[in-house]
Amino acid sequence: MTDAPGTYALLLRADEASEIEVGALGKMEVRPSAYVYVGSAFGPGGLQARVARHARGDGALHWHVDYLRAVTTLEAVWYTHDPERRECTWAEVLRARPGATVPLDGFGASDCDCPAHLVRFDPSPLFHTFREFVQAVYPDHKPIRQRTPAEEM
Ligand SMILES: [Zn+2]
Repeated sequence: MTDAPGTYALLLRADEASEIEVGALGKMEVRPSAYVYVGSAFGPGGLQARVARHARGDGALHWHVDYLRAVTTLEAVWYTHDPERRECTWAEVLRARPGATVPLDGFGASDCDCPAHLVRFDPSPLFHTFREFVQAVYPDHKPIRQRTPAEEM
């Protein structure tokens, strides 16, 4: 992962049920399950800076995902340095996977028309399945990789 721009998905796990307030969107029920949030970083610092911030989980509550991050563990990050913004495509693919539900309408999708960029999963989605699906549907998609917090972000 470098400071080049790109698209990422955060694989988050909640171990306990809770209720969070997600900015102007209001309340969201968090269940013990997996959550996948899709975003993109096309500003200064690119993917590396953004993902490092999510990995630390500190700082101001700026994005919707910051509220969820506060009550979850980051298990993995999927990312691509594809120069095209892929976040809506990734969110669409994830929403269509078996076991996927949208926990809160509009989450992470303030700047687009998607239902949400956050998907709840039970069980967790598999990286290789996601990657194979995206690359089959979008043959021009640049490589998709996975990092875990144990590795250097
Ligand atoms: Zn979108």
